[in-house]
Amino acid sequence: MEDCLFCKIIAGEIPSSKVYEDDLCYAFYDISPLAPTHFLVVPKVHLASAADVTDETAPVVGHIYAVIARLARELGFAEGYRVVTNVGALAGQTVRHLHFHVLSGKELGSFN
Ligand code: 5GP
Ligand code: ZN
Repeated sequence: MEDCLFCKIIAGEIPSSKVYEDDLCYAFYDISPLAPTHFLVVPKVHLASAADVTDETAPVVGHIYAVIARLARELGFAEGYRVVTNVGALAGQTVRHLHFHVLSGKELGSFN
């Protein structure tokens, strides 16, 4: 999609530090990390947020979770990590392309 930052990153038009890529998703390190390990996993198809996931597009979300589990083992943080997706400005979403934050490497506080 035009003028979408993460579509441009996926297309290689904006540089990023790649963690992983396949036909369905792209993972890259967050530019402002909030934990020693902090990367984002995005579907290659443009969806604005998790609120736009439908039965048709849901399989890519399952695939992304499987990729995250595999990366956690391969990168050595499977003991503990957090996966977060923000929906809407009120929840802190700043980029309107569905993305999953993967955070690890430090004590992560409770949300409650
Ligand atoms: P949100 O706040 O929408 O849940 O998360 C967006 C994330 O994208 C933020 O953590 C922010 O640091 C990251 N981000 C924003 N612009 C860029 C960029 O150009 N490159 C990378 N690698 N991360 C970015
Ligand atoms: Zn996009």
